Amino acid sequence: MKYSENKKYLCKNIFMSLLSIGTVAFDAIETPFGKTDKIIGGAATYISLSASYFTKNLNLVAVVGEDFPQEYIALLNEKGVNTEGLQIKKGEKSFFWSGKYHTDMNGRDTLITELNVLANFDPIIPDSYQNCEYLMLGNLTPMVQEMVTQRIQNRPKLVVLDTMNFWMDVALDDLKRVLQKIDVLTINDEEARQLSGEHNLLKAARKVLSMGPKTLIIKKGEHGALLINDTDMFYAPGLPLEDVFDPTGAGDTFAGGFIGYLASTNDVSFENMKRAIIYGSAMASFCVEKFGTENLLNLNSEMIADRVAQFARLVKF
Ligand code: AMP
Repeated sequence: MKYSENKKYLCKNIFMSLLSIGTVAFDAIETPFGKTDKIIGGAATYISLSASYFTKNLNLVAVVGEDFPQEYIALLNEKGVNTEGLQIKKGEKSFFWSGKYHTDMNGRDTLITELNVLANFDPIIPDSYQNCEYLMLGNLTPMVQEMVTQRIQNRPKLVVLDTMNFWMDVALDDLKRVLQKIDVLTINDEEARQLSGEHNLLKAARKVLSMGPKTLIIKKGEHGALLINDTDMFYAPGLPLEDVFDPTGAGDTFAGGFIGYLASTNDVSFENMKRAIIYGSAMASFCVEKFGTENLLNLNSEMIADRVAQFARLVKF
């Protein structure tokens, strides 16, 4: 397809401010295609890198230890991420996560979760972040996610929350409380079942929606994502890819693309969320093609427009 035909999928950037919180971490990953030592990871890292392709007004609140290399922070800054809200704790260690993927790459086992600095994280919102219009509560302690909602004086136009089974296991009550304060929840299919106690996904979605979020996104890995609210439903497929090396961060990259697109268009209607989950899925498709954050570092708007056009061709009939 010629570039000119993809042009309609280029983003019109109107620079609404976006605040992301979540982990900034070290990850050690093992997939059937290889193994990494400690590399940069964390939910907020993937969210910020992904969203950086949509908005230039991007702020981060997170915590790392003294062991976190300055060059990684510089890398986020180079991508336009404001790290004024990134706390660096002297004498402490960064959050560390290690995971191993199954042969089919759909499932994974968490081998290690070391909370370290995250255990006592007190999220401080710099004054310059106070007027954020879009808030992405990336995966981390639900209590910290809630504290952030309380510490932002004016309610943002849209609050999106991502979480995972780990927090459903260890902090379910806190999670249920924060769910009442958000607009959009993103979880995967297994997490939707765990949270609702329902096996059928539609029943699970109805029950999760009754817990607070107005809109739910159920991520189904390589099989795409379902967007659902009380009256509407939309399904975005996963793009079949020849090279899938490492799914780590795909969910966060999806979330960063989703909220980044909404912030760049400043439209939170269901119709626009349909487009946003296609942009989120396009970003996630880049993420899984290489290890860690590698593929998210050198994209450009033409490459993203081209991916989105591939999605459009995949479902057009
Ligand atoms: P995803 O593959 O989208 O679930 O995200 C993987 C990223 O989430 C990795 O970079 C990890 O550092 C981070 N992560 C793993 N476990 C947790 C957790 N319990 N809380 C917050 N972030 C986590």
